[in-house]
Amino acid sequence: MTRPARIVVAGGAVLALGAGIAPAGAASLGAPAADRAPAAEAAAKKKPKFQMPFTCKSKMRLDTWGHSPALDIVKKGNPGSSGKAVVSSYKGKVVGTYYTKGSGNTIQIKHKNGWFTAYYHLKDKANKYVQKGDKIKRGKKIGRIGASGTTTHAHLHYEQRYKKSGNWTDESHRRAVHFNGKKYTGQGNTWKSVTSKNC
Ligand SMILES: [Zn+2]
Repeated sequence: MTRPARIVVAGGAVLALGAGIAPAGAASLGAPAADRAPAAEAAAKKKPKFQMPFTCKSKMRLDTWGHSPALDIVKKGNPGSSGKAVVSSYKGKVVGTYYTKGSGNTIQIKHKNGWFTAYYHLKDKANKYVQKGDKIKRGKKIGRIGASGTTTHAHLHYEQRYKKSGNWTDESHRRAVHFNGKKYTGQGNTWKSVTSKNC
């Protein structure tokens, strides 16, 4: 399958099954768009220049499905995504390597100015390539695309978060994703081919 199955729930909201939603995730559907909040805009000015979490020149497909601002990422023209290397979007410190039933093998990285990135559904045990506490550079391989946790197909569920603890339960702190300074956000959006500048 190239797309997660979808269901429509009361109120017309569309849920993307297999989206890797952690327990707090359902409550965040329909929440105000965080990227429009003034405070978030101010914070965004100090946002690190994140790059796609894939090696230089990788061409990837991005979807927000029903869980914007989180992204689900596969190779352009999926299938073939399983096993592709996932790399850090920016330099930082690994603050979480763990497994949950929903997000599967998961990594959290803390970056400068209160920003975090989260990587879900990884193929291998989360501490296979990096350990909690490691300081890593942008582009460091941290895992591979997989289908661990609650998902029907191999993809990377990816988030950029601002402030608070950076803990995996803090999905309410998700912000609009930027890659190389360009914003990729909004419910139900697809970008069929985006080239990584993580070079
Ligand atoms: Zn997802």
